[in-house]
Amino acid sequence: MGDTNAAEFDRARAAIPGGVNSPVRAYGSVGGTPRFLTAARGAYVTDVEGREYVDLVASWGPAILGHADGRVVRAVVDAAGRGLSFGASTPTETELAELVEQRIGPVERLRLVSTGTEATMSAIRLARGYTGRDVLVKFAGHYHGHSDGLLAEAGSGLATFALPGSAGVPASIAALTLVVPYNDPDALRAVFASHGDRIAAVIMEAAAANMGVVAPDTGFNRAVVDLAHEHGALVISDEVLTGFRVGPAGWWGLEDGTETAYTPDLMTFGKVIGGGMPVAALGGRADIMDRLAPLGPVYQAGTLSGNPVAVAAGIATLGALDSSVYRRLEEASRHISEGVSAALAEAGVPHAVQRAGNLFSFVFGDEVRAGVRDYAGAQSQEAWRYPPFFHAMLDAGVSLPPSVFEAWFVTAAHDEAAIDRVFAALPAAARAAAE
Ligand code: PLP
Repeated sequence: MGDTNAAEFDRARAAIPGGVNSPVRAYGSVGGTPRFLTAARGAYVTDVEGREYVDLVASWGPAILGHADGRVVRAVVDAAGRGLSFGASTPTETELAELVEQRIGPVERLRLVSTGTEATMSAIRLARGYTGRDVLVKFAGHYHGHSDGLLAEAGSGLATFALPGSAGVPASIAALTLVVPYNDPDALRAVFASHGDRIAAVIMEAAAANMGVVAPDTGFNRAVVDLAHEHGALVISDEVLTGFRVGPAGWWGLEDGTETAYTPDLMTFGKVIGGGMPVAALGGRADIMDRLAPLGPVYQAGTLSGNPVAVAAGIATLGALDSSVYRRLEEASRHISEGVSAALAEAGVPHAVQRAGNLFSFVFGDEVRAGVRDYAGAQSQEAWRYPPFFHAMLDAGVSLPPSVFEAWFVTAAHDEAAIDRVFAALPAAARAAAE
């Protein structure tokens, strides 16, 4: 083993494309050498050089209790001792499904898969199988994993079919996706007016957090559901990132019981539901979910779906998420985001804090001081201010998401000591962003 991050990166690049198993880890948008991690505990991660960092990535969300939480690790070790994988049904799969169904009203049935990509891909197939229609609507800047039909980019002009968003995606597949600006009900209305009888489903992040954080405008999710239902289409609310993170019932739960309450037909989950192990899920109305094989004609399967060790981590994590955890997340999120904002202001860096529940990120530049509401807005920011900020924080022992277009994640283990370390790093980092 190389004993520096640079040596590990060299070694990895000779063995793995780009040295990484998921592109953002390569630091492509911030430059520099990725940290190769060897351990994570509580609010901290440790790299191969033995340096410790306050972690504001949290494995992109799953580590909601903090890394290597004792309750989760014990559950995993116990389950592993009983067998790693059975390829057969287990009582614990049902327990996890019941835990989700008790918390989230629109979920009457749940099917477990292993990744968020699989969850959204399967939900889309199910929506097509149920409606007998082919076209999918998604919002610009929303990310739902890397299946072909979702790697689609808006063509020129509204209500036109998408172009491939990656080499290897056939144009004929991208052409079944319509990409619509976010937070723009009129644009969605226009798409339904032109193509309504061909649209199987609208897929949306319940609150967007993959172009930085961009919350839905008040009532937007409700408007999406109403419009889709008027035209016989389904709504897939993707809570892979927000589910169980922004509250016990995810983003859906934050709006439930309010004037803007909405009821998606299908929902997808990932990240927190597996507590750091590969679990994801699709769920929703029983009459739709029961169209899945073996009951119905829509095929979906997985050798490791419902894996007993992964499910044990999910159950232990959801079981530990009481109101004190969400209070802690909210406090840490407020404290850190306000501290960052104050430091940036002090250094004269124009910016805005973007938030959705306890998720937050920052946009930079005078033009975006009022915040952004869609992908065009997020892209218009002075993104060049982020890499120097990121690296100054990293040098001072704080690990941030290596892209300005990602959410920051806190955990219940971000205590005063961890937050103090973030605050100590901020003035120099904010000055770096000012230059
Ligand atoms: N949906 C959303 C909202 C996500 O944030 C992600 C991943 O970041 C996915 C789907 C894909 O999940 P996975 O990376 O587990 O395939």
